[in-house]
Amino acid sequence: MSPLAREAETNEADVLIIGGGPAGSMAGIALARRGVRARLLDRHRFPRDKPCGGGIRWSVLRRFPDLAPYLAETVPLHEIRRVIMESPSRATVCAESEDPLYLTLRRVDFDAALLQRARTVGVDVIEGARVTDVHVSPGDVLVRCIDGREFRARILIGADGVNSVVARATGLGDGVGDDRLAIDTMEETPRDELWMKDPESLYVAYGYQGYAGYGYVFPKKHHVDAGVGFLVSFYKRKIDASPARCHARFLEDARARGVVMGRSNPDNVKAYRLPLGGPLSRTYADRVLLCGDAGGFVNAYTGEGIYFAMVTGVHAGETAAIALHRGDTSARTLSEYERRWRAEIGEELGDSVRIQRRLFANPALADRVIRAAAVDRKLCRLFARIALGEESLRRRKLTLVWRFALASLRVRLRQRTARAERS
Ligand SMILES: Cc1cc2nc3c(=O)[nH]c(=O)nc-3n(C[C@H](O)[C@H](O)[C@H](O)COP(=O)(O)OP(=O)(O)OC[C@H]3O[C@@H](n4cnc5c(N)ncnc54)[C@H](O)[C@@H]3O)c2cc1C
Repeated sequence: MSPLAREAETNEADVLIIGGGPAGSMAGIALARRGVRARLLDRHRFPRDKPCGGGIRWSVLRRFPDLAPYLAETVPLHEIRRVIMESPSRATVCAESEDPLYLTLRRVDFDAALLQRARTVGVDVIEGARVTDVHVSPGDVLVRCIDGREFRARILIGADGVNSVVARATGLGDGVGDDRLAIDTMEETPRDELWMKDPESLYVAYGYQGYAGYGYVFPKKHHVDAGVGFLVSFYKRKIDASPARCHARFLEDARARGVVMGRSNPDNVKAYRLPLGGPLSRTYADRVLLCGDAGGFVNAYTGEGIYFAMVTGVHAGETAAIALHRGDTSARTLSEYERRWRAEIGEELGDSVRIQRRLFANPALADRVIRAAAVDRKLCRLFARIALGEESLRRRKLTLVWRFALASLRVRLRQRTARAERS
């Protein structure tokens, strides 16, 4: 066999995955388990960091029971039992539970562990391979890297994050617009420099300073992660400071109010983009599937994306395996992917966009919601369960509306009584 023919052969796989974050690794694991030859390319070498708060719903362990013991063994996970939410006028409410609500983790550890798992189950992982071009033809898919290497496959899975080359090259996404995108900062600083009084509580300031966005402080096992996030459209119109400056102000404020103690370290601050407009209108095409941030799979008001990257990665891998088995890699067969993710997370993600549009555009409403939740524990619990995807907003809408109305009435009565007592 000529060297050229050998190279073409070794550079061919059944499925090519671009991106080794949670979406890509999970897609690879799902494919390898079905005996499919999968190759994964990432432009970085792992362990690599990814700007992220590192908070993930605890139910991820239920959703992926096969992975739970492996993750518990390889990744320092920190359990969170309380979430303190603060309103624009600084009213607070605490959602708490005996069972953990969230886990926090460092992405540098988590992503490396998932990628290692993919490698162990048989995925051919190639690091330091930055894809610049993608060509989909009737016969196969060809991707080209910046260093000239070329790879071919029958199906391509785009798991290459918010700036997805695959989404753009295949016409499924044309870059995310400013009103569907957030700019988020994060700082991951060791707990001996920056710490929280209660290391089991997440703190989230919704509509921080009346802005269309949030501030957050997440304790991890050995670090504290904090940051601010704004819709890019709002940031460009209304904020006259760099993301790093907004971050510093938020941390100064959090320190002044006793939310964090110690010192923020500007050297640890990073800013990155986060898609907040919901899934793309189409996430599949002939021979192509998009998952994770590349497909817009992020909860639009909590900013949670790791879980959805994992879920969509698995559905993309399973759908690709079915298509190969049937010998039909057309968009019609791959549309099964969209049916699957819609059935599992479609409603939650759709509702998250509606909630975000109402809350981010209306700090007064965010304020009323948090004040109402503070006087009605059942309402607070219901909000938390909706944010965690454990209750459907649509199914519980009536309950929410009447509890919210009654709780708002109680808030007004309390405010009136307090005013009367003062005067
Ligand atoms: C500041 C911030 C805070 C956040 N906090 C949270 C949080 O607390 N909880 C949560 O759940 N989510 C959070 N998110 C969102 C979360 O980080 C993402 O939703 C998640 O990382 C998506 O995973 P992914 O696998 O789709 O993409 P990524 O994790 O972005 O992985 C994509 C991979 O593709 C690779 N890649 C990209 N382009 C190419 C290319 N051309 N060629 C080869 N490889 C390429 C990258 O190197 C990367 O490894 C946050 C986001 C930001 C910005």
